[in-house]
Amino acid sequence: MSARAITRVGIVGAGQLGRMMALAGIPLGLRCAFLDRGADAPGAAVAPIIVGELEDARLLDDLATRSDVLTFDWENISADALAPLAKRVLIRPPPAALERSQDRLHEKALFSGLKIPVTPHAAVDSRADLEAAVRKLGLPGVLKTRRMGYDGKGQCVLRNAAQIDAACAQLGDGGLIYEKFQDFTREVSIVGARAADGRCALYPLSANTHSGGVLRYGIAPFRDAALERRAGIYFRRVAAALNYVGVLAIEFFVVGGRLLANEMAPRVHNSGHWTIEGCVTSQFENHMRAICGLPLGSTRALGHTAMINFLGCMPERGRLLGIDGLAYHDYGKEPRPGRKLGHCTILKPLAKQRDSALKNVLKLVHWR
Ligand code: AMP
Repeated sequence: MSARAITRVGIVGAGQLGRMMALAGIPLGLRCAFLDRGADAPGAAVAPIIVGELEDARLLDDLATRSDVLTFDWENISADALAPLAKRVLIRPPPAALERSQDRLHEKALFSGLKIPVTPHAAVDSRADLEAAVRKLGLPGVLKTRRMGYDGKGQCVLRNAAQIDAACAQLGDGGLIYEKFQDFTREVSIVGARAADGRCALYPLSANTHSGGVLRYGIAPFRDAALERRAGIYFRRVAAALNYVGVLAIEFFVVGGRLLANEMAPRVHNSGHWTIEGCVTSQFENHMRAICGLPLGSTRALGHTAMINFLGCMPERGRLLGIDGLAYHDYGKEPRPGRKLGHCTILKPLAKQRDSALKNVLKLVHWR
């Protein structure tokens, strides 16, 4: 007898990632519902929202009751909040993967245990720890909160010992990690899906440009056969170790031609947005396929893409839409400095056409 079809998907968090997942689920015949703090979150445009705190036991229970599988657009939910649900609903990706990724030190320990190189680092739980870490690893370095940091929040660069006081004043002196600063040639990420039977579908690499710790734009496919092969090996190691189901992203620094794993995201990822227009099957659709036990779709690229984030303010829509091969995504969020409000993707047959369109788009997009 075949198992009951998985058609009802509960998504914890109704941000833009949740919305793009729900949108991808519609043609597959899936029905989504969200749990989110805001009734007007981006997901509200496409599926019902249970409004309230994401870790509220009663509301999570309500979402689970309406769902065959639970998934996330926000990965910081505590494993304790999910534990009571695990008995009666599938939770994909597995809570253990979320837990690992929630603490930078545990995440790096996972990578190291799998023989995946990481930036030299040290745990910092006091000012004395920080001074010792700076002595051991040298300057410059990056001090980061171990938990809840994202988009450059909860981190600061230390260039000299005189900045230790200011860094402690900003981030406190506990629950931190100090990393050696990497003078990387570029940053790349691999995004892929893993099905419950262990099969994986990996997208081509994306080369990502960050500033102030926030992704500004990326180009994909970034073709470097050796890096792509290595990133694929690392992806499969991590995904298998976590018994992972769904889309997973791993971000790397490229240093001296080698990959150093920086962090992972147990969910669909901003650096994979290009796959909506740029691949046969998007990361969002493959996430939905994986968590619902459906066959994974092809990750073949359809051309050369650039994905540009809209941060803090929206660009002039009419001018961008006048660019041939450009897809526009407005998440419907209130503008705030640094906030991700939308993105656009350019898809071109040739890399040089993509590069010249990217140059034009970057003149029209202002990050605030
Ligand atoms: P993260 O929150 O760890 O993803 O960091 C955000 C961004 O800050 C990265 O994508 C890099 O551009 C930069 N960054 C973080 N850690 C380091 C490091 N150890 N060395 C150099 N740059 C870093």
